[in-house]
Amino acid sequence: MASDGFNDQYSSMASDSSERRRVGLIYDERMCLHSDPNDLLPLVKPDKVRKPHPECPDRIRAIWNKLHSSGIAQRCVVMEGKEVEDKHIELVHTKKHINLIKNVSSMTNLRREELANKYSSIYFNEGSTEAAYLAAGSVIEVAEKVAEGELDSAFAIVRPPGHHAEENQPMGFCLCNNVAIATRYLLDSRPDLGIKKILIVDWDVHHGNGTQKMFWKDPRVLFFSVHRYDSGTFYPGGDDGSHVMTGDGPGKGYNINVPWEHDRCGDADYLAVWDHLLIPVAKEFGPDIILISAGFDAAIGDPLGGCRVSPYGYAVMLNKLLVFARGKIVMALEGGYNLDSIANSVQACIEVLLQQKSVIGTLEAYPFESTWRVIQAVRKELSSFWKTLAERLPEKVTSMRTPFIQVVSSDSEDEYDNFPNRVSQDLEKDIDNVIQPFSDLKVNDGPGITSQASIISHTWRAELSKIDIWYAAFGSNMKLSRFLCYIAGGQVESMRKPCIGSLDKSKPKEIKWETFPHRLFFAREHTATWGPGGVAFLHPECNSDEKAYLCLYRITLEQFNDVLCQENSSSFDMKYPLFDMADLQSIENRKSFSAEAVKNGWYHNVLYLGKENGIPILTMTCQLSDVDNFKSGKASMCKPSKEYANTLIRGLVEGKQLTEEEATSYIQQATNRPL
Ligand SMILES: [Zn+2]
Repeated sequence: MASDGFNDQYSSMASDSSERRRVGLIYDERMCLHSDPNDLLPLVKPDKVRKPHPECPDRIRAIWNKLHSSGIAQRCVVMEGKEVEDKHIELVHTKKHINLIKNVSSMTNLRREELANKYSSIYFNEGSTEAAYLAAGSVIEVAEKVAEGELDSAFAIVRPPGHHAEENQPMGFCLCNNVAIATRYLLDSRPDLGIKKILIVDWDVHHGNGTQKMFWKDPRVLFFSVHRYDSGTFYPGGDDGSHVMTGDGPGKGYNINVPWEHDRCGDADYLAVWDHLLIPVAKEFGPDIILISAGFDAAIGDPLGGCRVSPYGYAVMLNKLLVFARGKIVMALEGGYNLDSIANSVQACIEVLLQQKSVIGTLEAYPFESTWRVIQAVRKELSSFWKTLAERLPEKVTSMRTPFIQVVSSDSEDEYDNFPNRVSQDLEKDIDNVIQPFSDLKVNDGPGITSQASIISHTWRAELSKIDIWYAAFGSNMKLSRFLCYIAGGQVESMRKPCIGSLDKSKPKEIKWETFPHRLFFAREHTATWGPGGVAFLHPECNSDEKAYLCLYRITLEQFNDVLCQENSSSFDMKYPLFDMADLQSIENRKSFSAEAVKNGWYHNVLYLGKENGIPILTMTCQLSDVDNFKSGKASMCKPSKEYANTLIRGLVEGKQLTEEEATSYIQQATNRPL
């Protein structure tokens, strides 16, 4: 429905600030270690298809990847996750709760399952402790930097979420109450920062029951939650989310619930609440900083929420808050289960924080009739605490409304039944592929990504460690144990010297095999690693008559740089990357990229071979000009040494690509056929 005056109010412009705003972005892949152990079990049982858990690791990966592919992350101050200290968890949780979260990852699977069943909508696995500590610690980390003024604002892309977690129990996918911990940290542990009043805006579609209880009597914290209530039937259920719950004692009036009566609330409904409740109250309260429990399960397309907020809607909601607390806003991810919706919504919010785009647009609809009813009820309930709410809204405002028409089959009747089945058979295959080879590995675990507390913006490793690529190996790296020398360091049989390894010694996240229409051949006569004999190259040009077997390792772009360096030079000190984000973005069109800093190396030509699951596949080989030199005899073709060839054959056989005979014949052909 088109409208006139009503829409114009919401065409909001970001301030015309020319100075660059420092927006912090915190993410840590280790928060992906927390996942539902049932998701590792077969997803298809004879009687029914079981759906994976909606609170899955891909939620934060999807956001992270989107922010990088769009170039937004590169404009932010990127920080590594930091684990919370027990004494800070204790600001809002009991000792018993801390012990549970701390010890749950070292328990047996059975014990973990028994414990999880005691709580509402909770799972635990061996990664839960680390993820929960990182989620809470990361929100503290950015909140502190924003409070200090080192950052203007920040977004913590964290999981597990927090707002349902109560003093003494995890609940509703939440283990520790991240936002509540950071709030108490600022108020109680860092009085030096001068933060005396905090506004928490909880726009997750579910009521933030945990946060409400933690600040029930605390007038320093204004807790504002807008959520589906549906007469107390929507999760977490009961009376907690009702608008009559306004706090107690000195905290009376500092708890504001806006409970939707039904599903399908969208931009117009949320913005009406902003204009007629949140913004006037925020003005009167005058917060020193704003923390947003930023769930995106009220977004259009969310499988659990049933609401309809667009990325534009979130952008306007956020933009309206930027005028308070000198723009000091800390956002922490809560729920949100449609990967596209959450990625797009987060991106829209960060663009607002960066203030590099004006927020413009129009609303397509009026708020529901019920929205005005809810707003009026909340205003009435709180009118004695906030004088701005005492006036009755004029009829000309509330008359702009849409009737709510009940739809018989609601799109959010049953959380799980309506959750789209994203699992392909490939996933099961992938899991087998990854778990199987690793169970046979005898390589020592490296220390993994080291945890650093400080801001590490503009260091290339921090940025590139968050990007995954497939490194496609066609030579001796097809043998996993040999490839891992490039990651963990060390040497295996037949190698004459050890490798340094990558700074990040995490193993590949996945391993796959694929064939590509390129020619494999052997050239050069001697290498420091393998001694006399030729080494493998892939012809940089496609040829549909050719078929080369390549083993794909899913590693980070940071690790890929370390591999590229080790393949080409022993002296390059990696102060900067050989192949960075911009190179990754441009190689898709250019197909190949020459790493100039190591151009004397034999493998400095990075080739783009396509994508697998949306992730670019890269390999490294010689230049096309080298091929001409090999053809003309300027440089030598040479057959591989027996040990080197054997490493390739073993790789192909262990990777279950070819039998021993087939692999031997494949290598012989590659050796003997002229280019
Ligand atoms: Zn939620």
